[in-house]
Amino acid sequence: MKQIIERIKTHALLNFGKQIESCTEKEKYVALSKAIMEEVVLDWEDSKNKFEGKKKAYYLSAEFLMGRALSNNLINLNEKEKVEDILSEIGLSYNDIEEAEEDAGLGNGGLGRLAACFLDSAATLDYSLTGYGIRYEFGIFKQKFINGFQVEEADNWLEYGDPWSIRKNSEKIVVSFSDQDVVAVPYDTPIIGYGKNTINTLRLWKSEPINVFDFEKFNDQKYDLSVKEKNNAENISKVLYPNDSNEEGKILRLKQQYFFVSASLQDMIRKFKVNNTDFKKFPDFHAIQLNDTHPAVAIPEMMRLLTEFEGIRWEDAWEITVNTFAYTNHTLLAEALEQWPVKLYKKLLPDVYKIIVKINTQLKSDLKKKKIDKKDFGKFEIISDKNIKMAFLSIYGSFSTNGVAQLHTDLLIHSELKDWYDLYPERFNNKTNGITQRRWLLQSNPELSEYITELLGSDSWITSLEKLKELEKFSDDTKVLTKFMEIKQEKKDQLAKYIKEHEGIDVDPSSIFDIQIKRLHEYKRQILNALYILDLYFRLKEDKNLDIVPRTFIFGAKAAPGYFRAKGIIKFINDIKELINNDEEIDGKIKIVFVENYRVSYAEKLFPAADISQQISTAGKEASGTGNMKFMLNGAPTIGTFDGANVEIVEEAGEENNFIFGLRVEDIEEIEDSYNPNTEYNKIKGLKRALDTLVDGTFDDGETGMYKELYDSILKGASWHKSDVYYVMKDFDSYRDAQQKVNDEFKNKLGWAKKCWINMANAGKFSSDRTIEQYSKEIWKIEKNK
Ligand SMILES: *Cc1c(COP(=O)(O)O)cnc(C)c1O
Repeated sequence: MKQIIERIKTHALLNFGKQIESCTEKEKYVALSKAIMEEVVLDWEDSKNKFEGKKKAYYLSAEFLMGRALSNNLINLNEKEKVEDILSEIGLSYNDIEEAEEDAGLGNGGLGRLAACFLDSAATLDYSLTGYGIRYEFGIFKQKFINGFQVEEADNWLEYGDPWSIRKNSEKIVVSFSDQDVVAVPYDTPIIGYGKNTINTLRLWKSEPINVFDFEKFNDQKYDLSVKEKNNAENISKVLYPNDSNEEGKILRLKQQYFFVSASLQDMIRKFKVNNTDFKKFPDFHAIQLNDTHPAVAIPEMMRLLTEFEGIRWEDAWEITVNTFAYTNHTLLAEALEQWPVKLYKKLLPDVYKIIVKINTQLKSDLKKKKIDKKDFGKFEIISDKNIKMAFLSIYGSFSTNGVAQLHTDLLIHSELKDWYDLYPERFNNKTNGITQRRWLLQSNPELSEYITELLGSDSWITSLEKLKELEKFSDDTKVLTKFMEIKQEKKDQLAKYIKEHEGIDVDPSSIFDIQIKRLHEYKRQILNALYILDLYFRLKEDKNLDIVPRTFIFGAKAAPGYFRAKGIIKFINDIKELINNDEEIDGKIKIVFVENYRVSYAEKLFPAADISQQISTAGKEASGTGNMKFMLNGAPTIGTFDGANVEIVEEAGEENNFIFGLRVEDIEEIEDSYNPNTEYNKIKGLKRALDTLVDGTFDDGETGMYKELYDSILKGASWHKSDVYYVMKDFDSYRDAQQKVNDEFKNKLGWAKKCWINMANAGKFSSDRTIEQYSKEIWKIEKNK
């Protein structure tokens, strides 16, 4: 350990030419991280060797929302406390250094964070799982609020370099498009399993030119042209598309997908060929999971590489391909089901397009063999209406299609993808999402972690979360519950302090911390929460003696920059915040905080401090959710709809310990044709008053037209959709009742603590360790290796 001090000092001098003491926090962070990397590299190499000759799994994902690495790595190496001590000996503050790390925000939200949790779990469980993706130079934008409006700024996360990745120049790969060739350069990051038995790899590709510089053009004084190839190539991995809803028909986005997929497959094939000649064995050594359809082009690309470069017959290549790939579906939203215009594919990837045509022809002949009526072929065709349907391509070209929560999988097989399920029932399965307890409890809530370990007499929950179940025996133990609530209070105090520093708002740490943090989307219904708060405010104004427990409503959400309505909702909530927080009559009974730039590192401070978790999406729209699981693990009951994994959370922790409200999927199916939101708007007391603030002059949207548009989307609809498609008006009353119940039950301190406790004790199912075990055993068919 003495060594680590020497190493930190050396890296400070080597990288910044300064003594560690005079480095900035960011520089200290880099020096410390590089010192730790030195400790890791040899074990990392050993870990690669031990899986030699075994079947391995690969996770292809356009997004990896890793957040910060320093604390996570130190915890998994079991060196965090030692390093904290050593740093303080030489007068450095670990906390300040930790806070200097930029998040690796290479993802939008849940889908990208799931990929990160999966990597942590696989390494911890000693499975070989390699992540493949893109090394975006700019990750998800940084969010600022100006006059309540969201403003986006570039996320320059690499400004000080990334000490956790190693550039592997010797493993470059050429990727070709019709109009350009680029080189994909791999950057490898170690994924350290807890206990350090296995260190896996996240390999992210950067796009670079084949020729960096055109000397002739420079000499001709054509300076722009001399670096044109460089810029064109680098643009491919320049920026993460900040859109997790409707796919924009962006040429660059398509290039990104093909870029990382082709590089990854070529990489696997190249390594396979070192020891193998028989490609029929490829699926015996590789299971490739497609994280949604973003990497679906892997299916035709694999066919192209096998048939055109490896001399494999089409039929054999198809068998190899289908037996290699598995596909995860992440959404039921029709507008998010990815399609690409044929025109674009033909133009950019003509060879791949030809293969897709051939796959579609083969599909039709398979349909014929399966006695499907010719007039029904349209239900399956991969190419139709001049578009390529990526979900159909993924199902047809793989041996497994899974949904991400039981309800979601049921909806997939019984409605959205019913025709495909009838065709290939054996391909469909469920894998309910999970989260890693190493980050979402051990790291973010050390106080509660320590207490759990003390009560269990063991820290085995860190790798076997189902052990938490044993804690249920304490659910009537006043001493335990009291200590538990003291810890919750400590986390709330810490958050209150952080909010004061970063948002400039004073919050009452004894108030109910009611938290809704997730991407901003209409289906997630932040507006339902907002309307409830407004109604509560007006009721309080009418009746000063209204008996409510003081509450702090905390929001965190980024809206896709092009999602006008979502940005309107952010502005609306910020305006409500200004109105209420500045109303002295309210006397602090309601406070609103909308944290700026919600991201993984902020999330780690929010989940442990929550008293109640808001999961209020329209039933049938949230495929799973994982934020819901992070709250549960930290002992917050859910106020939510029967949607996604909420259903399973309640199944584990009991409906009586949560606050379930609103329409269910069956209810919506029943009323959808006749639903008119104006009925509720006019009938439900207080609802009109709250919604009308959008148009009655209470708030000002700066002549953007946002508020009127938002109002109309609910009561009138728009040219492209009916009114209130997310049933905000219909669910308002039952949501308000559920919130009233939260208020009433919170007053009973021990009763409330018990609910929180039972939620935490039953969170075991939602470890991503469980999810990864299921993927490994049921889909990938891979084995552990210590
Ligand atoms: C967990 C997480 C999400 C996903 O939240 P949901 O509520 O499941 O949508 C999104 N962003 C961040 C930063 C997260 O940590």
